[in-house]
Amino acid sequence: MGNLTCSTFNASIIMTKQIKQKVIQLREQLQKAGYAYYVLDSPIMEDGVYDQLYRQLQDLEEEYPELVTPDSPTQRVGDKPASQFSSVKHNIPLYSLENAFNSEELAKWETRWQKQLEEIPEKFAYVCELKIDGSAIALTYENGILVRGTTRGDGISGEEITQNIKTIRTIPLKLKLDNPPVRVEVRGEAFLPLDVFEKINQERNKLGEALFANPRNAAAGTLRQLDSKIVAQRKLNFFAYTLHIVGEENQGAKSQWNSLELLQEMGFLVNPNRKLCNSLAEVEAYFQKWDTGRKTLPYMTDGVVVKLNDYQLQQQLDFTNKFPRWAIALKYPAEESPTVVKGIIVNVGRTGAVTPMAIMQPVQLAGTTVQRATLHNSDRVAELDIRVGDTVIIRKAGEIIPEVVRVLSDLRPCDTIPYQMPTECPECSSTLVRPDKEAVTRCVNISCPAILRGSIIHWASRNALDIRGLGERIATLLIENNLVNSVADLYSLTVEQIASLERMGTRSAEKLIKAIAESKNQSFDRILYGLGIRYVGSTNAKILTKSFSTIEALTQASFESIETVYGIGEEIAQSVFEWVRVENNKALIKALQVAGLKFEAEKTNSQDNSDLIFAGKSFVITGALPTLKRDEAKKLIERAGGKVTGSISKKTNYLLLGENAGSKLAKAKKLGVKQMSESELLEMVK
Ligand code: NAD
Repeated sequence: MGNLTCSTFNASIIMTKQIKQKVIQLREQLQKAGYAYYVLDSPIMEDGVYDQLYRQLQDLEEEYPELVTPDSPTQRVGDKPASQFSSVKHNIPLYSLENAFNSEELAKWETRWQKQLEEIPEKFAYVCELKIDGSAIALTYENGILVRGTTRGDGISGEEITQNIKTIRTIPLKLKLDNPPVRVEVRGEAFLPLDVFEKINQERNKLGEALFANPRNAAAGTLRQLDSKIVAQRKLNFFAYTLHIVGEENQGAKSQWNSLELLQEMGFLVNPNRKLCNSLAEVEAYFQKWDTGRKTLPYMTDGVVVKLNDYQLQQQLDFTNKFPRWAIALKYPAEESPTVVKGIIVNVGRTGAVTPMAIMQPVQLAGTTVQRATLHNSDRVAELDIRVGDTVIIRKAGEIIPEVVRVLSDLRPCDTIPYQMPTECPECSSTLVRPDKEAVTRCVNISCPAILRGSIIHWASRNALDIRGLGERIATLLIENNLVNSVADLYSLTVEQIASLERMGTRSAEKLIKAIAESKNQSFDRILYGLGIRYVGSTNAKILTKSFSTIEALTQASFESIETVYGIGEEIAQSVFEWVRVENNKALIKALQVAGLKFEAEKTNSQDNSDLIFAGKSFVITGALPTLKRDEAKKLIERAGGKVTGSISKKTNYLLLGENAGSKLAKAKKLGVKQMSESELLEMVK
């Protein structure tokens, strides 16, 4: 497997060399990303991806401290200030925040800060604030007058942008205090409201300028505009969250909560969605509440900042060289994440379609652990040039199957080899075929155990016959033991036969037999869906059984009469028309009827479509969809009972999202409209 350079060393040297290489690669990748993010305001990766790669580097440096270098991204707060403004040293450094990505990490932080103290206080509270996704700025007031505004820069020095900052209406030029202290330092987040961000991007689009990737970059880019007239037009806003009163201890606040109130009195805008919490349980409840709540806010947030309230405690805990020990940012789960490919397999589905899948090091994605991601088809595999050992970015397309978005080839180890798609079926060894013009490779052996297994799993699935307990493991055992050759055979299984299977006792066998028997009462549309006819998903099955109330009616129907059913197009009609004419399929229907299944719809009086999956739901489509044309997607939605409109409003239920989506996406985010990808849509209407 390894090339000469790698394989000639002994195992431990290879190990150290590989780790060193990994550390160097991660560092270079993060430096590149950091520069693009902090200096150019034009990120080259998602924040979540950056955070995970950063974590990987941090973990490796912790394990191998000899590999830490002073220029490592883990050793600095932000990035060097850009050159067009004068660089000034901050009166008090602007620290970064430590991140937590789940409750365990949050709990560990609590244990950590408590261990730092000689005595854990009996009572303490946390202030929870929304983490505004903008750009941190520092303001200095002397005798109540704003004298300086700076960007965070690298935390030690930033760029002096006072003129630009003065254009932000919510930053007072004079503090509302009768006897202002000599010097007051205020920190907070400058941000662009989502609708302003959307407008700016629309204008840039018209002018052919590069679009801002997100409101945070737009805010940072705006603050660094040399022409403050442009800054004024952009309508930046500012939430204040930190107050230092220099030299006037009596007027100083005693706690973070106090400070926030005082900032408000001084004339600042303070985010109203703050909360004083007495335990981590309360912090988590706040975090959960805002996970949905934040989608309706007119600005972007990416987490919750948790700060110990009491200033005395804060002082005792102090700072590390990067973070305050008394605060942490609890981040909302990323929708994209990096992970390492451990293997590439192909999966043969019930239609014989062969889908390549990446098996990955388990990773948390949008709240769940993911270890498999689809690579769709051989074209996609070739396009990605994905290899075992690669670091890849995976994305959860909505809530369904995660997919590999891209390979981070800068992080590729030295001994990878290109992946070749197999030419033979991994289940039955017959030669795989790829019909002309199709992206899908197939096993066309009708006795392939993978196809039979897939049809049994589909038959037993929740939207089909709903046979609880009949999943992949049992289906495989039934086939391996020659107990079933088609789904009809399920109905003649006995308790003894099932009980004899590996890891199955009499009680679970009885339960399964009962579930199989009960499935005989399922409705005609579920049976039709369970048969797995191409293009007949549960929605189409419902439509068909409304027009053809028995299998006989469907079998005898002409192609034209199927095609003219509202919601059924030519392709579906063709597929159904052909399927019911195949001798094996006729025999299967007969056998199922003999077993007691009723291929007959119950009579209904109404023509309503309230049981369709998208009944009453409204959609907006935006961007270029990967495979469907817009009108095809529209048809699919309408057939499933939904309607498609042209613009996003509060009433929109879903945004069907393609590539290069523009303002509709930002608006949907603002209004909390759920996003759906094409693959999710296809999965749902199947
Ligand atoms: P951070 O964004 O994780 O947290 C610190 C910042 O939170 C503060 O500086 C402040 O600006 C902000 N903040 C917002 N609301 C706050 C509140 N109520 N109280 C206190 N602070 C508040 O850390 P960072 O050092 O600014 O940046 C690192 C982050 O930047 C990374 O975690 C990553 O997500 C992102 N990043 C992304 C890329 C990329 O390529 N996408 C590159 C570099 C950094």
